[in-house]
Amino acid sequence: MLSFYDGFFLNLCVLITALFLYKELAKRKHFEMQTVSTAIVNGLLSGLLAVILMHFSIETSTNSMIDLRIIPFMLVILYGNWLSSFTAAVLIIFTRFMIGVNAYSVSNIIFILVSWMIFYYCFKKIKNRWFSIIGMLILSNAVYTVLTVILIDGKDLNLLLISTYWIICILGGLISVYMMDYLTETEIVFKENRYHARTDPLTGLNNVRSFEFAFNKAKNKLEKSNENFSIMILDIDHFKQVNDQYGHLEGDLVLKKLAEILKMSQNSNDIISRNGGEEFSVLLNGCTNKEAYEKADALRKIVENSFFILKNGTISIHITISIGTATYNDTTIEVDQLYDQANQALYLAKNSGRNKVCSYSQVIDLVSD
Ligand code: GH3
Ligand code: MG
Ligand code: MG
Repeated sequence: MLSFYDGFFLNLCVLITALFLYKELAKRKHFEMQTVSTAIVNGLLSGLLAVILMHFSIETSTNSMIDLRIIPFMLVILYGNWLSSFTAAVLIIFTRFMIGVNAYSVSNIIFILVSWMIFYYCFKKIKNRWFSIIGMLILSNAVYTVLTVILIDGKDLNLLLISTYWIICILGGLISVYMMDYLTETEIVFKENRYHARTDPLTGLNNVRSFEFAFNKAKNKLEKSNENFSIMILDIDHFKQVNDQYGHLEGDLVLKKLAEILKMSQNSNDIISRNGGEEFSVLLNGCTNKEAYEKADALRKIVENSFFILKNGTISIHITISIGTATYNDTTIEVDQLYDQANQALYLAKNSGRNKVCSYSQVIDLVSD
């Protein structure tokens, strides 16, 4: 058993470590989504933490034991739903009965159930969050005090035990909520920054950094699997004229609409990026050179036949695109040459009339002629 100060310190360390680990797990397994299974898992994890805290009970100077089991239970009400709190309550009550069936385990049921009602009441009725949390802790501590007085039948009332419990429970509760809020906020900021670092702000497609990441990932995979892998690079024809005639903002609308067409016309495992300006790319996993050419030509036709609505719906224009393709295991066996080859094919498409698709194999044919 631990002394009061050691015990309090250890309990805080256990709480904080558990919250940190929980947040990491939740991030990977998407526990934020409140499905039935995640609610039950959240409840079980909260109950488990309560059980661990019961194991690390703090010894007071009068050989009485106190623990912080109520804090994970409060957290599951603040951050979970009714099913998670129900699961946690069942686990805490069940474990207490496994330790022994006596007046203490019965009072534990009352303590958990009454605290549950108090927590819900404060959560729903007190609008200020921190007042609500302090209300939860004070009222739950009051229940603990009353139950302790009843259990010892009013004799030898251990004021030191009670006051110690009040102090560590309130401090532990406030620190835990602060930690949960801090970890949640940090995670949101991290996700936002990661999204912005990877995404083109105008079109919502992958940006060039994401493209490079995806390309390198595919490269590593290809070195082991030796599958086909194609790339298409596409560029809007005479896009400068669109900007010159209708303005830069209207040009942006054209880029956005083209990005939507790309998203709709490609498979879900194709990686579409805006590599810069009016140049886009699509990485096609497992795609032969012939398939890449056909896909590219189908896309070219869709774009050619699409209406691009500008000037608040008063003008509708058409644009065309040129596309260059190259394929690993066909036009090259060096993955690093793919981008350059597709670019050369794109130049060929531009120089031979635009609004067309060229494969790098056509570039080779041209050179050998
Ligand atoms: P080509 O058929 O040879 O590709 O001709 P082009 O006019 O499309 O090519 P050029 O390289 O001469 O011009 C590209 C234009 O794309 C010029 C530039 O202002 C425009 N552009 C680049 N990025 C953006 C953007 O984010 N928004 C808008 N509206 N225009 C952009
Ligand atoms: Mg262009
Ligand atoms: Mg360009």
